Amino acid sequence: MAIDPHYEMVIGLEVHAQMLTRSKLFCGCPTRFGAGANRQICPVCAAFPGVLPVLNHEAVDMAIKTGLAIEGRINRLSEFSRKNYFYPDLPAGYQISQYELPLVEQGGIWIDTDAGSRKRIGITRIHIEVDAGKSLHEGIVGASWVDLNRTGIPLMEVVSEPDLRSAAEAGEYLKRLRAMVRYLGVCDGNMEEGSLRCDANVSVRRHGDSRLGTRCELKNLNSIRHVMRAIEYEAERQIDLLESGQTIRQETRLWDVNQGLTRSMRGKEEAHDYRYFPEPDLPPLRLSEERIESLRQQLPELPEARCRRFMSQYSLSDYDAAVLTASRDVADYYEQVAGAVASAKMAANWVTGELLAWFNDDPDQTKRSIPALHLARLLQMIQNGVISGKIAKDVLARMYTSAQTAEAIVEQLGLQQMTDTAAIEAAVQAVLQASPDELSRYRAGQTKLLAFFVGQVMKATRGKANPTQVNELLQRYLAG
Ligand code: ADP
Ligand code: MG
Ligand code: ZN
Repeated sequence: MAIDPHYEMVIGLEVHAQMLTRSKLFCGCPTRFGAGANRQICPVCAAFPGVLPVLNHEAVDMAIKTGLAIEGRINRLSEFSRKNYFYPDLPAGYQISQYELPLVEQGGIWIDTDAGSRKRIGITRIHIEVDAGKSLHEGIVGASWVDLNRTGIPLMEVVSEPDLRSAAEAGEYLKRLRAMVRYLGVCDGNMEEGSLRCDANVSVRRHGDSRLGTRCELKNLNSIRHVMRAIEYEAERQIDLLESGQTIRQETRLWDVNQGLTRSMRGKEEAHDYRYFPEPDLPPLRLSEERIESLRQQLPELPEARCRRFMSQYSLSDYDAAVLTASRDVADYYEQVAGAVASAKMAANWVTGELLAWFNDDPDQTKRSIPALHLARLLQMIQNGVISGKIAKDVLARMYTSAQTAEAIVEQLGLQQMTDTAAIEAAVQAVLQASPDELSRYRAGQTKLLAFFVGQVMKATRGKANPTQVNELLQRYLAG
């Protein structure tokens, strides 16, 4: 979908990532997902009077690693602030966050643009804060219940500059950011379950205009696809308003998944005044050079670097390398397969072409389905001439549904390629006998019929004959 060419979109994203720490940000409660309501809470979570927060340094380390990975400035001194608001899922009446002095500033992520060039999207800041609880309404009449299990789970908020110019760029940026946090192991990146959440700020302006237009903030976007659709819709809505002489009202809008539109939630006038002030119960956060350096040493190979290495080490195209390194699980998977077979290129074709095709929406499922070494064994069977590539695809489909190994399936169904010349020869003779018409037409000069005969023999042997052998034998017999 293209917007009115006189306009351009301006988008900035605010991403909240739940960090994969074992315990919460300011107490020792576990962070595991899926426990019964209010089973993972304590007096700190419930904000009893007199409790004091104790900072979890595992979360700080994770946020620092992310800051280093986006090449941001790690502030040696940052501070926590109270963000005050009243909501049933926030018993303290305030959220501990960072405001004036965030942990990380001035980073960036490189993306590929629609036009095929590369572009750096600035990251204004990354700060640490706590997640809130959840209000439960479903199946409850006349009341709302509150589950505080999520209260206090550490979040990183990653705020981008308004550098994105299309829904596609926003999607690309999110994919990169998600891959990054997954590579770092600091967040599972699952948008459907809400461990990675994104608000999109969208405005439009006429091309050439240097001032930013009035923006709306979009919420309730729980997949990359929805982020992109909501941005498209919102930009069009704003352009329509401007074109009909109206103005944009700065507001927060909710994406309505079912109707595919955004709806006003609250205007700027109704926006909260958070009355931020420094958190009196926590000292400023000071970081030593040694700590930052040691975290830098611990950084894994990141997607960009891994992509370049795949291109040189495995002689892959930049496209294949990019697809394979977009997710750390897929990249690890590929390296296991490639390490066990003779052709790294063939391994790439199978992983990108066959496996990922099944897992379009969630590439990380790959490792849960077919173990890398099982795929490698299947590819070895092709390379050793035990089965053809075509049969291998059927075997792979069975491996996926039955969880059996390639060898077991090939053995059980008798799919081994026929290399017994006598048997193939018999099939060739039978086919020629059954097709006298074609035979005489072939001998009269219609040599294209060779393909027909090959097809018949392959069919008769249920695809198991070695195609090279079939071709050779046929040509010999057809020559008469
Ligand atoms: P707030 O704290 O109210 O959410 P910020 O100034 O922190 O506001 O901006 C939040 C996000 O909005 C950032 O990602 C920023 O890039 C983006 N943004 C700011 N102004 C605009 C604009 N005019 N159009 C689109 N995005 C914008
Ligand atoms: Mg905001
Ligand atoms: Zn707790």
